[in-house]
Amino acid sequence: MPEPKTVATHCPYCALQCGTRLSRERAGVTVRPSDFPVNKGGLCQKGWTAPTLLDTPDRLRHPLVRDAGGRLVPVDWDTALDKVAGELRRIQAAHGRDSVAVFGGGGLTNEKAYLLGKFARVALGTSQIDYNGRFCMSSAAAAGNAAFGLDRGLPFPVTDLGAADVVLLAGANPAETMPPLMQHLAHPELIVIDPRRSATAERAALHLQPAPGTDLALALGLLHIAVVDGWTDTDYIRGRTTGFDAAWQLALSWWPERVERVTGVAVSAQRTAVRMLAEAERAHVLTGRGAEQHSKGSDTVAGFINLALALGLPGREGSGYGCLTGQGNGQGGREHGQKADQLPGYRMITDPGSREHIARLWGVAADSLPGPGRSAYELLDALGTEGGARALLVFGSNPAVSAPNAGHITERLSSLDLLVVADFVPSETTRMADVVLPVTQWAEEDGTMTNLEGRILRRRRLQVPPSHARSDLEVLHGLAVRLGEPGHRYPTAPREVFDELRRASAGGKADYSGITYDRLESGEALHWPCPDNQNPDAPHPGTPRLFLDGFAHPDGRARFAAVDHRDAAELPGTAFPLHATTGRVLAQYQSGAQTRRIAELNEAAPESFMEIHPDTADRAGLRDGALARVSSARGETVARVRLVGTMRTDTVFLPFHFPDDERANLITGDALDPRSRMPEFKVSAVRVRSADEV
Ligand code: SF4
Repeated sequence: MPEPKTVATHCPYCALQCGTRLSRERAGVTVRPSDFPVNKGGLCQKGWTAPTLLDTPDRLRHPLVRDAGGRLVPVDWDTALDKVAGELRRIQAAHGRDSVAVFGGGGLTNEKAYLLGKFARVALGTSQIDYNGRFCMSSAAAAGNAAFGLDRGLPFPVTDLGAADVVLLAGANPAETMPPLMQHLAHPELIVIDPRRSATAERAALHLQPAPGTDLALALGLLHIAVVDGWTDTDYIRGRTTGFDAAWQLALSWWPERVERVTGVAVSAQRTAVRMLAEAERAHVLTGRGAEQHSKGSDTVAGFINLALALGLPGREGSGYGCLTGQGNGQGGREHGQKADQLPGYRMITDPGSREHIARLWGVAADSLPGPGRSAYELLDALGTEGGARALLVFGSNPAVSAPNAGHITERLSSLDLLVVADFVPSETTRMADVVLPVTQWAEEDGTMTNLEGRILRRRRLQVPPSHARSDLEVLHGLAVRLGEPGHRYPTAPREVFDELRRASAGGKADYSGITYDRLESGEALHWPCPDNQNPDAPHPGTPRLFLDGFAHPDGRARFAAVDHRDAAELPGTAFPLHATTGRVLAQYQSGAQTRRIAELNEAAPESFMEIHPDTADRAGLRDGALARVSSARGETVARVRLVGTMRTDTVFLPFHFPDDERANLITGDALDPRSRMPEFKVSAVRVRSADEV
């Protein structure tokens, strides 16, 4: 079949998944925004320039294998796959199944994420699989599951935000990370909680600027005010929730003056925030990475959910709590089995019924499925060590830049017997690989993505991939067959994989069983859960809004969480006197492997920088525009100084998208949230000095 000239598809980057129309013209591929509900004809700079990725000159086009001289040299696919499968077999024979690990990505399509999990657990029989989404939304997922019995980033459509009167954004900066979302935030008054005066904070009616790592104290204080000042919805608390008393016992001691001492947020501002939320007819509380990427990230999110529950927001039409998921398939990526503790359908891998269901579908014995493996950081940290994996397969991720404590993780990656990376452009991780597998991207493949509102979207193919690139599904099939698996167990057609994924998800938390490619092709807006009701004349319409009739716990009630504030794992002291916090800029995406190769984006954000208050810079002898070294107990990164008068004097900010010695993650730490295993990206103790100083 000839390739279409125009397709309706979605942006390759973030979880908003803006709708686009891509066309092949004589001059190349062009993109136009479509009138899709989330972007309503808007696109950000990244979306506009995305077609450039299709023709990037250093696109990976051939499988590469490292030769005896240490160079990556082109080989044919059979040679590359034979080598990988042979090495995997040898390593597992000598060191056991778990000596091979798999690291996935939140940008992979649903089909790829599903097949990757199946490949790891059946073809490799390893428990060692996790993905970079662990670094992204895992704290919100843990808190959402505990509170509501179900985690879906936004349990309502994005368009509901536009009808709200007030939206509180805790640690989210959509004006920079998802600009088209701001159309939906134009009407509501915004309360922004962020240690920085971010682009979103600039547009806020109220900006609360707590010290890094104190968001939970602030959330407890806001709950305290809501209760003491009589703003809570007592009927809602009594009728729709449990656990309020235990949560309140811990919030009791967080009176406003104490919160001000700990966070730096004035009592009056705390009171204003609660009053704005409570007086609003419709209000939302949203969290982002700023609240989530902490060693107490799940408790922090739970603190904001407690506040939302006390005000009676979740599960009420037009109001609610949600998490702004970041990566393109950050939602779907966590549902289909590439997480260390989960099987497809968002099922727990330890649940006997779930294991039975999935094993039956996969044609294997339930007791042959491995148990839970290590979380992403723990998996990477253990590489090459006693009991850790000796071979790693990476799909759609660049952990050499995006993992915390990146210098240490780079050492661990270097210690492997075998590092295999499937990607479509070179990255800091492919540079270290023994084998690089060139795969298809975005407009060269069909598949589905699930956006931040739990809506399943079709990604459509516009053009053929470069002749030697293969889809990740074909790569997994090729490896599985070489490992002795029957080929039919690893389909390569996305539609076929999706049909299996639907059946795997049936009855699970994220039920896709009523969703088909045909329904998506017809333009239906389908949000999971969408079970197969066996009625072709009136199939299940999907569930844009969750929890209106009850939460997903067996008793239908939401749970308050009894959480208390604790310090970040690392506080500023004599050697490292400042907080460093990390984040994103508009023109770059994640580790930057894709966006750093697009000229317009690179011009807009060419290098790492450090935002610092002029007084702090002065004390450190730093000038605006000079290069600074930023050091923590783990390492040092280099960044261009930007004097910003709105920064807290105890805090510096760095984006994390840049390579080599500009990696912000060279300074971030490895303290993990005990529940979500999220690393503490948002708080490190650092010192800053001029790059000229020795
Ligand atoms: Fe793409 Fe996200 Fe920008 Fe939309 S907001 S164009 S999905 S990067």
